[in-house]
Amino acid sequence: MSHLLDGKKLAVIGDPIEHSLSPIIQQAMLDELGISCTYERILVQAGSVAAWLPSAPELNLAGFNATMPHKTDLVPLMDTLSDDARMYRSVNTVVIREGRFHGHNTDGEGFLRALHDAGMEHRNRRVVVYGAGGAARSVVLKLTAAGAENVTVCCRTPKKAEELAARSPRIRLCGLAETACEEALQQAGLFINCTPLGMQGVQAQFDDFSFLDRLPASTPVCDLIYRPLKTRLLEEAEKRGHPAANGLGMLIHQAILALEQFASLSLDADLMKKAVMKRLLPVLNRGQLPPESRKVPG
Ligand code: NAP
Repeated sequence: MSHLLDGKKLAVIGDPIEHSLSPIIQQAMLDELGISCTYERILVQAGSVAAWLPSAPELNLAGFNATMPHKTDLVPLMDTLSDDARMYRSVNTVVIREGRFHGHNTDGEGFLRALHDAGMEHRNRRVVVYGAGGAARSVVLKLTAAGAENVTVCCRTPKKAEELAARSPRIRLCGLAETACEEALQQAGLFINCTPLGMQGVQAQFDDFSFLDRLPASTPVCDLIYRPLKTRLLEEAEKRGHPAANGLGMLIHQAILALEQFASLSLDADLMKKAVMKRLLPVLNRGQLPPESRKVPG
């Protein structure tokens, strides 16, 4: 049976883009579904997404994913925005239909689905989030909207997160070394690392892990990082008896949700996850980087 994506293209845009795993993930799902559509990387230089966007339909694209640094710049360029994209003021998925651009953001919902796959609960929990960048923003706003009791954002530069904290009285903000952060850890029912500390290729690591000793016994610990699959944070959390989950589930679920938008289909998440893991795990285990990106003039 033919599908609306047959003969079309999909892509991920960003700058840099060569490290994106989206082509592997999306192509695995497209192949599993028997849809003849190719998914590629396109380097769109920082600051040039508005100039690039009108060329997207001419490239035969039915849609594209967006990563750093374009997610915010895309917001005012969309013809329509989903509720989540409007809430985060950030777009990671653009569907192109009849020359119109429809902006979505699947990060927060992807995180929630991964959390529940891991058997972790957020509803009526006090959550502590380390970091206040783009990923933290989606996670914090989604958790707040989806029933967390409150979310304390502990970060290095609280000034940068004042706008996020102002979005809800249930979002609290403090510096990593403040007493308020220690107190929040002591009451936390869920801990999430949204900093790149411990990520492969990033020199910075947590100075020490004694903050984990403040968490109540068996509070789940999530790391958004998926390279390596098990960070030092997750190792240390498991040593202390906390359930631990990496960022792979979020990565895959946000991609499934994006493909549902591109394809106008409701997908079997377990089937898609299996197809993705088969191609992705060897890459992650080898630490191998995907091939070169295709450069498109900005
Ligand atoms: P980002 O926008 O650059 O934000 C990074 C945050 O971490 C900022 O709050 C930053 O603080 C803080 N930070 C950086 N270095 C730090 C250090 N040495 N000490 C304390 N805080 C530090 O990055 P992002 O896009 O939010 O990504 C964050 C992490 O999530 C990355 O590891 C990324 O790979 C991962 N991620 C995973 C998924 C997934 O699907 N699993 C999706 C998105 C992101 P300052 O503001 O002070 O610099």
